[in-house]
Formats: sequence, C-alpha cells, structure tokens
Amino acid sequence: MEFREIYCYNCKKVLGKYNIKYYNDDKVNDMIKSNYGSHVRQGHEIRISKVSTKS
Ligand SMILES: [Zn+2]
Repeated sequence: MEFREIYCYNCKKVLGKYNIKYYNDDKVNDMIKSNYGSHVRQGHEIRISKVSTKS
C-alpha cells in the first residue's frame, strides 16, 4: 500500500499518514490546513512524501 506521509521538520515527527487510494493531493492539503494548521502558522516546514509498505 502507498501512503502520503506528512512530516514536520521542525517537530521532527510524522504528523499523519494517508492512504493514497483515498487521499489525493488536494485532500491531503486540506487535511494539513484543518489538522496541522498550527504547525504552518508557526512557520514549520512540512513535507509530504510518498511511502509504501508491503502488505
Ligand atoms: Zn511542527
């Protein structure tokens, strides 16, 4: 399965993982705004990367 992983460089942690099947770029961006907006407002650097897991 493939996921989009949301990582905050400032907090040095993964904020969330979203299955690529159900979350396209737009949806993930919406998630970041609604769930992780506090990081963005504090100027944190957030990266979205594609990760895959063997299932
Ligand atoms: Zn952060």
